[in-house]
Amino acid sequence: MVHQARPGELEPASIRRRLLAWYRKHKRDLPWRRNEDPYRIWISEIMLQQTRVAAVLPYYARFLARFPDVQALAEAPEQDLLAAWAGLGYYSRARNLQKAAKNIVELGEFPRDHSALRELPGVGDYTAAAVASIAFGLPHAVMDGNVARVLSRLALELGDIKSVAVRKRLRALAEVLLDRKRPGEFNQALMELGATVCLPKRPRCERCPVRLYCEARKQGLENQLPVRGARPSADQRGKRLLVIEKAGKVLFWQRPAESSRLAKFWELPEREQLPTAKVTDYAGAFRHTIVNTTYFVEVCRAIVGSRPNGFRWLAKSSLEGVPVSTIAKKALALHAQSEAVSRRSGVP
Ligand code: SF4
Repeated sequence: MVHQARPGELEPASIRRRLLAWYRKHKRDLPWRRNEDPYRIWISEIMLQQTRVAAVLPYYARFLARFPDVQALAEAPEQDLLAAWAGLGYYSRARNLQKAAKNIVELGEFPRDHSALRELPGVGDYTAAAVASIAFGLPHAVMDGNVARVLSRLALELGDIKSVAVRKRLRALAEVLLDRKRPGEFNQALMELGATVCLPKRPRCERCPVRLYCEARKQGLENQLPVRGARPSADQRGKRLLVIEKAGKVLFWQRPAESSRLAKFWELPEREQLPTAKVTDYAGAFRHTIVNTTYFVEVCRAIVGSRPNGFRWLAKSSLEGVPVSTIAKKALALHAQSEAVSRRSGVP
C-alpha cells in the first residue's frame, strides 16, 4: 500500500519552532535577504528559477546597479536588458521581467497580493507565493523543488513526486506546516533547509533541526526519496561553428524576434549556413548542454569573400554590450585561447 503524506501527524508547531530557530542561526547571508523590497525580492526569485545561487549572485548585483527600480527596468532598451542577462540562460525570464515592469508602472504600484502578482508575465504560483509572503507577510506556502523534497521525506511520501496527486498532497502539507505569523521567514527556512541540509543526494540528517519528526529518516529511506519517474535521456548532437574575422570584426547572424529560443541574440555562423566559406584552421571543441540536448561543438576559423546575406560584422570591442549567446561566447573564448597558444609557440 502506498504511504501518503499525513499532515496531522507531523506536529506542525514543533517543526515550525525548530525550523525557524535553526534558520535564524544558520541562514546564508544573501543580498536579497537584506531587505523586504518587493522589486528586489521579485528579481531574485526570477533569477533563481533554474539557476544556482552562486551563479546568480554577480548577476543580481550588476542587474540592480543597472536597473535599480521598476521604472528603470520598464524603460531599459531591450539590448541592454539582454546584455545584462546574457549567460544566465532562459532569456524569456528577462523579457517577462520587462513586460511585468511595464505593467507595474502602468498600475502605479507594486501588486500587493497573490492573485495580482500571479497576473504579471512570468510569475507563476511559486514566485507569487514567495513575493507575497516575503515582501508582504501574506500566508502563502511556497512549493519548489527543495520544498517538495524536504516534505516528501518528512512525510515519507512514496508516490512519484512528479504526479499530480503527490504534488497536491505535498501542497496540502505545506499549507498545514506554514507559520501564518511569519510566512516569509518560514518559507525561506524550508527552502534553505532543502538547499543546504536536506540535499538531493546524501542529506545531512545529523544537522537537521527537524530530524526527530522525519519519517523517511526513521525508516532509513532518506536517500531513496523523493521517488521520481524515469527521466528522458539527453539527446546528443554535433555542431561546427565558424569564427570569421576581418579588421577587428567578427561575422554574426541574429536570431529573429519570433525565435522560440534566444530571440534577437547574436550567433556565430554554422558550417551548414556558409557552405562556401573556406575553413582555414581548427581552434578546438567543447560540450554545451541546453535543456535535454548536449552539443559537441567544434570551432573552426574560416574566411569569406564578401559579407554573405543575412550576416553582419560586429566589432569585437562592442560584443560586451550586445546579447551574444553563451555558445558563441564559449566558441570565441576557445578561439582566442588557441590563437594565444599559437602566438606563444610561434605557429603562424
Ligand atoms: S532528517 Fe534528513 S531527510 Fe529528514 S528532513 Fe532532515 S535532512 Fe531531510
